[in-house]
Amino acid sequence: MAGKFKKCMMICCSRKLQQRDDMSNDYEEAIAGLQKLLSENGDLEKVAAGKIKQLTAELEAAAAVSFNPVERIKTGFTHFKTEKFDKNPDLYGALAKGQSPKFMVFACSDSRVCPSHILDFQPGEAFVVRNIANMVPPYDTTKYSGVGAAIEYAVLHLKVENIVVIGHSCCGGIKGLMSIPDDGTTASEFIENWVKICLPAKTRVKAEFDSLDFAEQCHNCEKEAVNVSLGNLLTYPFVRHGVMKKTLSVQGAHYDFVKGCFELWNLDYGVSTTLSV
Ligand SMILES: [Zn+2]
Repeated sequence: MAGKFKKCMMICCSRKLQQRDDMSNDYEEAIAGLQKLLSENGDLEKVAAGKIKQLTAELEAAAAVSFNPVERIKTGFTHFKTEKFDKNPDLYGALAKGQSPKFMVFACSDSRVCPSHILDFQPGEAFVVRNIANMVPPYDTTKYSGVGAAIEYAVLHLKVENIVVIGHSCCGGIKGLMSIPDDGTTASEFIENWVKICLPAKTRVKAEFDSLDFAEQCHNCEKEAVNVSLGNLLTYPFVRHGVMKKTLSVQGAHYDFVKGCFELWNLDYGVSTTLSV
């Protein structure tokens, strides 16, 4: 009897660790198992029966909060449609005819650093490229044509006036770059080869901040990699041309979501603005 009860508890506990996608099946299965156990074992002691009821309640609570991606998307769009789209017919009417963003922004794909969220960009204000560690690769018509196409479209067709590359705190991509062994061997299919774009930043940080611990080196590399990207932007002839004619400004930035700070600097690497809340 005791063994059976213990086994049942172990099953329940391990189920709680499984993927939430399986939650509803697991939940029904577990409830059925518990009910069967209760009905078959009239001699269960009160404490044991109470424990099973408690586990049942926990499973019910877990099932109630299980994540439904379709519902989340429906709820999100309904909120946007009623609270923003329907309430701003002038803005969305104008955007239906075209876009004329002032900014092109490079930001990391990290879910915590959405530039529209942290800089309050409204629809139509920023043409955004997001990738691992917010990197701008050097001009290369085949290897990096995706990024090249976005820069070409933003500069030559949309005529953006500002390009901002935004690094951020605790960047996993930069940590990955800093973790590549000195012999250059890689363990991933894409990630390390991508972040190697900013290898010069790692080399600089290792040379200048060798005495710092790894986390501090990564923090410095987050900013240094932005500088490498700013340099790479200038390898695109139409960017270089715009900067020389002063129709285009290129700026670096770093968003620290631990401290709540945003730092902005220009191409001469002089800090122009530091914002903190
Ligand atoms: Zn990142």
